[in-house]
Amino acid sequence: MELNLKPLNLPGVPAERPLVIAGPCSAESEEQVMSAARQLHSNGIKVFRAGVWKPRTKPGGFEGQGEKALPWMKRVKEELGMLVCTEVATPHHVELALEAGIDLLWLGARTTANPFAVQDIADALKGADVPVMYKNPVNPDLELWIGGMQRLNGAGITRLAAIHRGFTSYDKTIYRNLPMWHIPIELRRRIPNLPIICDPSHIGGRRELVAPLSQQAMDLGFDGLIIESHCNPDEAWSDAKQQVTPDVLAFILDKLVVRSTGDTTESLSTLRSQIDEMDNKLIELLSKRMRISREIARYKKEHNVAVVQPGRYNEILDKRGAQGVLCGMSGEFMKTVFEAIHSESVRQQIELINK
Ligand code: PEP
Ligand code: MN
Repeated sequence: MELNLKPLNLPGVPAERPLVIAGPCSAESEEQVMSAARQLHSNGIKVFRAGVWKPRTKPGGFEGQGEKALPWMKRVKEELGMLVCTEVATPHHVELALEAGIDLLWLGARTTANPFAVQDIADALKGADVPVMYKNPVNPDLELWIGGMQRLNGAGITRLAAIHRGFTSYDKTIYRNLPMWHIPIELRRRIPNLPIICDPSHIGGRRELVAPLSQQAMDLGFDGLIIESHCNPDEAWSDAKQQVTPDVLAFILDKLVVRSTGDTTESLSTLRSQIDEMDNKLIELLSKRMRISREIARYKKEHNVAVVQPGRYNEILDKRGAQGVLCGMSGEFMKTVFEAIHSESVRQQIELINK
């Protein structure tokens, strides 16, 4: 099924790249919302975000101010003329948000992982002419991401954008959510006229990563950025580590190099980003391999077996060398790589055994 799409067409917002949406993770109080909105507005931001209902991993955390935050969003709209957007996760949220005149809605990554929830929301959106941003599901499943947008489209939502917010990973990485850029790149290939907005805040999970991730999104030809910004990030009630002040945001945006999508360097950036992705995967794989080595060390310790067993080592070097040559790499290179891997593995095993 093709998506029937129309331009987002946001009143008062020029249709140029990047579309920037900014605001705090959560609407905490009227003052906090207004001060963030005022500063962002004076820095040129036209679309304000704030979570009214917050999906939290565990109960007991701050779950958003709920309905009572909607008039604060309305105030941002009326006093500053910004467009406002928030996350909806149930049909009731949709009803309340539309009633309050919220200009854009988004579906969060936990919601988009659940087709029943998405269908209920799609049903609630029937007949509403509101632009909707659709975050990727927490799991790296492009079909599920597209399928959910088809559900909204089936309910008549044609002003749609995808938000790339990264994917959950069990392994420790520098990211809060793995970017897996090849997935949004494939989405672009499959549905070229669907705007893609990058959410560097939730991908990075740390404020230092907001700038490089935003640049990478621009290099890949993404259409927009949704960035969490709070006047006092360290005191934020949710996602404190990843929020930046409105002034830092302005600085990041000012330094951003936005190339036209017709640029010939585009394919180079795409390839480079694939290389980055591969390197990340290599690092992840190496760290998994080291984890297994340490597991082996535990076994060796319990059974009193020596760490280095030359037979096994030679077997690895010979087999990997031959495999590598078959794949077009030099035997010398393979030997260097596997000697280095082996020596790190031995170092980690010895460290564990001597603990
Ligand atoms: C958010 O944007 O604050 C949010 C909860 O995001 P996600 O659904 O991507 O986790
Ligand atoms: Mn957040």
